[in-house]
Amino acid sequence: PSPLDKEQLQGLRGIREFLKVRTSYDVLPLSFRLVVLDNDLLIKKSLNILIQNGIVSAPLWDSRNSAFAGLLTSTDYINVIQYYCQFPEEIDQVDKFRLSSLREIERRIGVVPLETVSVHPMKPLYEACRRMLKTRARRIPLVDTDDETGRETVVSVITQYRILKFIAVNNEQHTMLLKKPVRELGLGTYSKMATATMNSSVLDVIDLMVKYNISAVPIVDQDYKLLNVFEAVDVIPCIKGGAYDELSSTVGGALSRRAEDFGGIYICGEDDRLDSIFDTIRKSRVHRLIVVDDDSRLKGIISLSDILKYVLLFGEEEDVIRQQSSTLI
Ligand code: ADP
Repeated sequence: PSPLDKEQLQGLRGIREFLKVRTSYDVLPLSFRLVVLDNDLLIKKSLNILIQNGIVSAPLWDSRNSAFAGLLTSTDYINVIQYYCQFPEEIDQVDKFRLSSLREIERRIGVVPLETVSVHPMKPLYEACRRMLKTRARRIPLVDTDDETGRETVVSVITQYRILKFIAVNNEQHTMLLKKPVRELGLGTYSKMATATMNSSVLDVIDLMVKYNISAVPIVDQDYKLLNVFEAVDVIPCIKGGAYDELSSTVGGALSRRAEDFGGIYICGEDDRLDSIFDTIRKSRVHRLIVVDDDSRLKGIISLSDILKYVLLFGEEEDVIRQQSSTLI
């Protein structure tokens, strides 16, 4: 291996060691708020609560059994939309659905329910990352059990973004060693991209997200130049107030409904290196990077899961991986 490869591996090892000696609890800020939604709440009302609080996901609580009941995310709203499309005559029904109906909705539209994984906050952060990669979850709830009552408490939820930010902020000495260009690492997706145009309907874009199992679709013009990105979370303001018929309107219209504090889109080039990507994550709220050429033409997309997977797994020996994943469950 070249000196560059050696350095790269040294950087990755440093980060992995760090993740093994820190816990999920360490990622949490000193003070934070957690919005937990009761499972009996109407789905329609949950939309307003998320929007008012400026959040895109929340843990659910089953107050009858005093137990954690899963995580509400934009995927659940996409499922409700699919349900509405498959059973349009049931629109009155859709308005009456409660969060506890989400599992039933999954069943009726025939999607495989996401595995609800959680981790104990004091377990190594490395374990939380491995579980996220294994289940393809973008966020993972930290669930603790009260020693005396045996009851579960949801401490917080950590996202891929929070973890990568935590790595970036605390590992500058390691991330600076990651000097290989992203394209050379094969980091991200560069072929068979799902894209749409400003005139595509919101429903078409949602279909793409479901079909490809992805959380964002780049919006391009006729020359394949990048104009914007439609994200799964952009669905939330679209169906606020139960306005499902607006889903046939265009992506362009929907994107204009984005909150004022929208963080923006992050781009990079194929020759950029992971060290500079970590610099961007350190400074900004990045949810993915869109790879473009010098003429802003779309080349690829690097998701946070692509980065997390590379950082955790690249160069790990197969048997080590197998051994570790079997001890995780
Ligand atoms: P994340 O899990 O970080 O939210 P995604 O679900 O969007 O990321 O991405 C899952 C995988 O699909 C990644 O490997 C990513 O490179 C790829 N991907 C993401 N968006 C697209 C797209 N629009 N077209 C094709 N592949 C994509």
